Amino acid sequence: MGYSGFKVIKEGLFGQRGWKPVWRDPDPKPEYDVIIIGGGGHGLSTAFYLAKEHGITNVAVLEKGYLGGGNVGRNTTIVRANYMLPGNSEFYSHSLKLWEGMEQELNYNTMMSQRGVIMLCHSDGQRDLFARRGNAMINQGDDAELLDPAGVRRELPYLDFDNIRFPIYGGLLHRRGGTARHDAVAWGYARGADQRGVDLIQNCEVTGIDIKGGVVTGVQTTRGAIRANKVGIVVAGRSGQVAAMAGLRLPIESHVLQAFVSEGLKPCINHVVSFGMGHFYISQSDKGGLVFGGDLDFYASYAARGNLPMKEHVMEAAMTLMPMIGKARVLRSWGGIMDMTPDGSPIIDKTPTEGLFIDCGWCYGGFKAVPGSGYSFAHLMATGNLHEPAARYRLDRFRTGAGLMDEEGTGSQHNLH
Ligand SMILES: Cc1cc2nc3c(=O)[nH]c(=O)nc-3n(C[C@H](O)[C@H](O)[C@H](O)COP(=O)(O)OP(=O)(O)OC[C@H]3O[C@@H](n4cnc5c(N)ncnc54)[C@H](O)[C@@H]3O)c2cc1C
Repeated sequence: MGYSGFKVIKEGLFGQRGWKPVWRDPDPKPEYDVIIIGGGGHGLSTAFYLAKEHGITNVAVLEKGYLGGGNVGRNTTIVRANYMLPGNSEFYSHSLKLWEGMEQELNYNTMMSQRGVIMLCHSDGQRDLFARRGNAMINQGDDAELLDPAGVRRELPYLDFDNIRFPIYGGLLHRRGGTARHDAVAWGYARGADQRGVDLIQNCEVTGIDIKGGVVTGVQTTRGAIRANKVGIVVAGRSGQVAAMAGLRLPIESHVLQAFVSEGLKPCINHVVSFGMGHFYISQSDKGGLVFGGDLDFYASYAARGNLPMKEHVMEAAMTLMPMIGKARVLRSWGGIMDMTPDGSPIIDKTPTEGLFIDCGWCYGGFKAVPGSGYSFAHLMATGNLHEPAARYRLDRFRTGAGLMDEEGTGSQHNLH
């Protein structure tokens, strides 16, 4: 079923009876050409691009819960391409271009809103770093503008400009950055993959990976064994556990990241604002809720909820930056499990087992990577070759130490910064 303005009006006039389920609910077949483990944003976009770009449609996405119930439906929806280091720069640039064409490509309203991302700086050193980052973004072909304090005041008049501890020295504005509706992205890719013949199988947990003579032959699931010569692991916070089923130990720790939403308010925050020095960021959803968050909870966990001290820290940072927020009431908070790598950059690679591939390590920034990651991972699984924009995301960089991409300069303690 195609979506259009005409269809919406027609359904409105005739009692909304013509809508059909957006994807099928098939039983698993005994064998597929490709199995994708994980029905999050990255798994679904991988399946979509396998079908669309490579004509590989005998594919199953196996999801232990429901599609979009993981981090893809739990994040704060920020999309941007303001990375600095070679390796990340070209990847996120490619991903943002895919975002810009996504609604047309999927014929699905993902509510992509390029409202601009502003990162604030609070010292000379941080401003110099942002100038450098902005130059790297422009060299990559993306947009960046360095704002002085008056420029920040023009865009964000509601900030506390008299704060002694965090004086505002300026900001880095990335106009093409913004937000999109997270679960719509999952649904859009799911629908696109299903339309091309991919089987999306929910309530199907992978419990084992079958390997014979160093070659993958299929998976064991709660709905029986399924054979395939190619298997992709795309399970975000569960990457360590699922990789262990193939005897693979990953350089990943799973940590909790929390998010918060206020009651619905009239439009007051027009951008995504990031206050890195205080570990706080915020935007306003189309429904009016202020959507905000901070840093990781500082302990490894598989629980999708967070601790109270981190909540307090985020609220304090919010009040420091924009005291007016104290009048709003928080409606909800939740957590998601982040697959943290030591250098803060992801992995898209083959594994030592032939036919077994892995896409993980997106830390707390993998939503913006959903289209780029799926595109690059599908390329790798279909052709056996690394896709150029993602060619630095190799697993062996953690063994050799060569090619690490430490975007935040936090060394091997990235997940404790
Ligand atoms: C609070 C919060 C805020 C965030 N904010 C942002 C942001 O603003 N911008 C940004 O770019 N990123 C953000 N992120 C990060 C982003 O959400 C993740 O990096 C990204 O969603 C991870 O990829 P995914 O969508 O494929 O993961 P998921 O949606 O978690 O998909 C993985 C899927 O694998 C399934 N699975 C696990 N084990 C198995 C198994 N054994 N068998 C079958 N299925 C299995 C899970 O059920 C899950 O559905 C945020 C994350 C959180 C939690």
